[in-house]
Amino acid sequence: MTARVCILGPSGRMGRALIDAAAGRSDVKVTAAVDRLDAGGLGTMVTNGVLASADLAAGLAAADVYIDFTSPAATRTSAETAHAGKRPAVIGTTGLTPADEAAVAKLATVAPIVVAANFSLGVNLLLGLVQQAARALGPEWDAEIVEIHHRAKRDAPSGTALMIAHAIAAGHGSTYDEVKRHTRDGDVGARPRGEIGVSAVRGGDVIGEHTATFFGAAERIEIGHRATSRAIFAAGALRAAAWVVGKPPGRYDMLDVLGLK
Ligand code: NAD
Repeated sequence: MTARVCILGPSGRMGRALIDAAAGRSDVKVTAAVDRLDAGGLGTMVTNGVLASADLAAGLAAADVYIDFTSPAATRTSAETAHAGKRPAVIGTTGLTPADEAAVAKLATVAPIVVAANFSLGVNLLLGLVQQAARALGPEWDAEIVEIHHRAKRDAPSGTALMIAHAIAAGHGSTYDEVKRHTRDGDVGARPRGEIGVSAVRGGDVIGEHTATFFGAAERIEIGHRATSRAIFAAGALRAAAWVVGKPPGRYDMLDVLGLK
């Protein structure tokens, strides 16, 4: 079966990557594209006869599933509109506020949705590796995460860095919110045992780099991932779109899609 897909934000970096990647697949077909009212390119063809439109309700109705890599505010509005029609979704937008998360959670009560801060196979594998390392090494080994992204990225730390931090906390048997440290400035005192630090670096056109380092006494382990093309996120999101259509309502992640649970 070919899933009919509505792409939100076709003029964006990820929107363009999704449209390019969909052209080479048989499990998905882009049948609608919806951008914000003031976006450039409205009315132009994005792929095979599909025009970019600002009509969200019509776009959702013309597809089996929508894919959303936009902004937190747009993700919230889309989830609220999709709730009325019980539309399946694939959501990759990061930096969601609690209110945005609530709208996404509400959609999951009536439709199947896949939500992931990172749709690459490599990062989803890395999450398991860092959790295993944290469990084996324990909080005596200081865990620090450094993430690097392009200068246009708005949210920090990245959603992927937060997923890695949560995986390390789970490996330690702690809760990330209790042990987190986002960058350091001034007299922060000695590093408490079990703290998990996250530092964000911004510059140039870096698509995404994440390194988790475990510092022991006189040795250290680094586990990292580098994305060199948005095509990896697009391929994962399209695979998730084909997978999620027909599933029972609920919130799924990439480990469900990849069959790694
Ligand atoms: P971008 O700024 O290049 O593109 C955003 C797009 O959303 C633009 O086309 C914009 O016009 C559109 N948009 C904004 N409001 C809209 C609305 N109301 N309706 C429809 N479209 C709307 O950003 P990007 O680099 O493509 O990243 C988008 C999001 O995806 C960010 O939150 C980023 O962190 C996230 N991201 C996630 C992953 C992942 O694997 N989960 C990978 C890359 C990026």
